[in-house]
Amino acid sequence: MKKETICVQSGWQPKNGEPRILPIYQSTTYKYETSEQMGRLFDLEESGYFYTRLQNPTNDYVASKICELEGGAAAMLTSSGQAANYYAVFNICEAGDHVVLSSTVYGGTFNLITVTMKKMGIACTVVDPDSSEEELAKAFRPNTKCVLAETIANPALVVLDIEKFARAAHAHQVPLIVDNTFATPINCNPFVWGADIVTHSTTKYMDGHGMTVGGAIVDSGNFDWAAYPDKFPGLCTPDESYHGVTYTEKFGKAAYITKATSQLMRDLGSIQAPMNAFLLNVGLETLPLRMERHCSNALAAAEYLEKHPKVAWVNYPSLKSSPYYELSRKYMPKGTCGVISFGLQGGREAAAAMMDKLRLAAIVTHVADARTCVLHPASHTHRQMNDAQLKEAGVAPDLIRLSVGIEHIDDILADLEQALAGI
Ligand SMILES: *Cc1c(COP(=O)(O)O)cnc(C)c1O
Repeated sequence: MKKETICVQSGWQPKNGEPRILPIYQSTTYKYETSEQMGRLFDLEESGYFYTRLQNPTNDYVASKICELEGGAAAMLTSSGQAANYYAVFNICEAGDHVVLSSTVYGGTFNLITVTMKKMGIACTVVDPDSSEEELAKAFRPNTKCVLAETIANPALVVLDIEKFARAAHAHQVPLIVDNTFATPINCNPFVWGADIVTHSTTKYMDGHGMTVGGAIVDSGNFDWAAYPDKFPGLCTPDESYHGVTYTEKFGKAAYITKATSQLMRDLGSIQAPMNAFLLNVGLETLPLRMERHCSNALAAAEYLEKHPKVAWVNYPSLKSSPYYELSRKYMPKGTCGVISFGLQGGREAAAAMMDKLRLAAIVTHVADARTCVLHPASHTHRQMNDAQLKEAGVAPDLIRLSVGIEHIDDILADLEQALAGI
């Protein structure tokens, strides 16, 4: 099936007489006929539900839709995008290990890896996503366990050369994890280009309506963990907390997601609420329609801003003037995302003044939903960073992040025009 059809038809498949719409399994627990049956579930001898902290049917139907959209082998939902990136890395890393991280990742991810996970004993080397293959190779150590980067960086809008990063990761026997939040599986499937694991903040375009915080992890099933048992003992040796199960032997292509569910969800508990998964599923149904509109509106807004005399610079990977235009055409021929960034001739002060004048575009911490919104990362999301860190993250102090919504383009342009006229 095509993605438009998957978005509407996949996941929940009602049988005769069952509800047409995905039911919300608003239940913490599940009933069994015999004690022995329940015991088999706990031993992972049988698949089935027993407690919603580990798995819930509503969540699993939505995860399976996202899995199909990404072309993966197995997937799970998490309570947030932060939890998705945390689990994705922590599932294969422990104290003493090392991660290679793209410098332009989302501020929350940067903080998670370089501050919080560092306290857990996991070291990290930050690399420029535009590094040459030789430079990238230097970042790896014998204890490196994964590489993490974003398809389109939030908010730097740097487009990742996924093939280059996949080659570097694989040359060092580790998987490439790609956060595909901004591109969505509608515009890019990182697995096609060699990524091994994909993460999402479903809070953004997938939900698309600013209603629910959520995340997802999808495994391609392509990375051969069993080929490197010394590097990935958690997947390749018996798990004593599960009666000696060896995930790669017992679960094959589902090993990574099964471990993340049965260990990390069990112990850390960042489950998505089934009600949120239900709302996410409604958002997914219209994702292809919305992405098309987000992309055409964003391109029109970027082209308008580029010509405006008060605008100093515009960064949007689908603009011909963008240094990432060629990469975006290669990896995202249908379009990139609805987020653009720009700076004004008047710098940081002018940015604040213009934002205060916008009427349709609201100042919110959010991006990537149906409503046009705007943010000044240096004063908001990236506030904790100094100017040098901002530069490394690809966030200029005067950068305005405009998340172009799906309203009529004439109204969006009129709002930009009146705000620019007022400064
Ligand atoms: C927002 C975002 C996250 C964090 O997701 P939450 O759902 O807010 O926890 C991670 N990665 C990217 C690219 C994001 O835009």
